[in-house]
Amino acid sequence: MPLNRHKSQDLFKDAKEILPGGVNSPVRAFGAVGGEPLFIERAEGPYLYDADGNRYIDYIGSWGPAIIGHAHPEVVSAVSDVMSKGFSFGAPTEIETKLAQKIRQLVPSMEMMRFVSSGTEACMSALRLARGFTGRNKLIKYNGCYHGHADMLLVKAGSGVATLGIPGSPGVPEGATHDTLVAPFNDLAATEALLNENKEQVAAIIIEPIAGNANFIRPSQEFIQGLRKLCDEHQTLLIFDEVMTGFRVHLNCAQGLFGVKPDLSTFGKVIGGGMPIGVYGGRRDVMNKVAPAGPVYQAGTLSGNPLAVTCGMKTLELLENKYSFTELSNRTNRLAVGLRDAARKNGVTLSSDSEGGMFGFAFSEAMPKNFDDAKAANIEAFNHFFAAMIDEGVYLAPSAYEAGFVSTTHSDDDIDATIEAAAKVFSTMSQAS
Ligand SMILES: *Cc1c(COP(=O)(O)O)cnc(C)c1O
Repeated sequence: MPLNRHKSQDLFKDAKEILPGGVNSPVRAFGAVGGEPLFIERAEGPYLYDADGNRYIDYIGSWGPAIIGHAHPEVVSAVSDVMSKGFSFGAPTEIETKLAQKIRQLVPSMEMMRFVSSGTEACMSALRLARGFTGRNKLIKYNGCYHGHADMLLVKAGSGVATLGIPGSPGVPEGATHDTLVAPFNDLAATEALLNENKEQVAAIIIEPIAGNANFIRPSQEFIQGLRKLCDEHQTLLIFDEVMTGFRVHLNCAQGLFGVKPDLSTFGKVIGGGMPIGVYGGRRDVMNKVAPAGPVYQAGTLSGNPLAVTCGMKTLELLENKYSFTELSNRTNRLAVGLRDAARKNGVTLSSDSEGGMFGFAFSEAMPKNFDDAKAANIEAFNHFFAAMIDEGVYLAPSAYEAGFVSTTHSDDDIDATIEAAAKVFSTMSQAS
């Protein structure tokens, strides 16, 4: 039965009058799936509560950060303690070093790092650094991967393999993306061809080691290991954008999972536990080029903000010491498999996959291996499923191209309830088809 959403509808009307599209980040508007967004009033553990008082099992987790659930009491307490001493000083604090040490302990490739305020900033800065370090201008990204909204990264792939990037948004001058090359995910030969056609010109390859901004695309071992080898051969820096996968797919992140050591990495989302933060880091010789240690300029008024750093630190500590990543993985896997089985029992074609606390599903025979596969899935079926699940009290990402997230606070009962709700929706979908 459709839920009462009057308050959300009213709030959206007011918001649209003053905020473009009524939101402060595009996907939130539910434009991709049709319908109107829910205005959230509060969240606790695995649940969201909207302005009309409806409760949802949340599988977005603020798009990833809420890995130990929302408003964890120990995190709230740690942040409150720090908050009472002042929000921001624009001067170094001890906790920044502590968080950096914690990150390096779990991700040894992060020999040195610099905190920023978002994932976008982390990726933008890592690429500037890669260009400054190598003295080269070009970079390779993968079709369907998202690395924030910096001009040079807003590139739609041109047709074919070795095309130059075409700006993916008005306002991005051609010059800004001229040096951005795009290859299909999981295509090592195409990557190698780009490197050979642009010899000694490619500063970096940047990739989401599991692509979560184009559904859930897993790299083949051959591909991800092959990138490391290609980068070594061409003296190109390998950058893992772990803003989504970091501390989400494995306690040692995607690089720990795959056993591949990137030259630079970027993080965000989980490392702030829901507060605005990002970090880029990696090889000491490269990071020593960042100002003021070196000549590559990058700065931020609120970088290393004590509230964000404390929130992230407490989140990582609890994730490491209080919760079991194996348990989180198993539960997430149970959800992914459960959704697929429930669909198939009802004659609906669905594939799914998961790693750690991250999952994806697609209305297609098999999970996508690249962005073209992801686009070939039945998007209409997804949109119907998404809307029907909201009415069942389950909040999924409002786009067929986004991964989903489970937290350590999702119980077996929450997972069972979700699968049951999905089965109910699938049964209506099979009647319709
Ligand atoms: C979310 C995300 C970003 C951008 O981070 P923001 O904090 O939204 O700027 C970059 N890369 C990946 C892989 C992401 O998932």
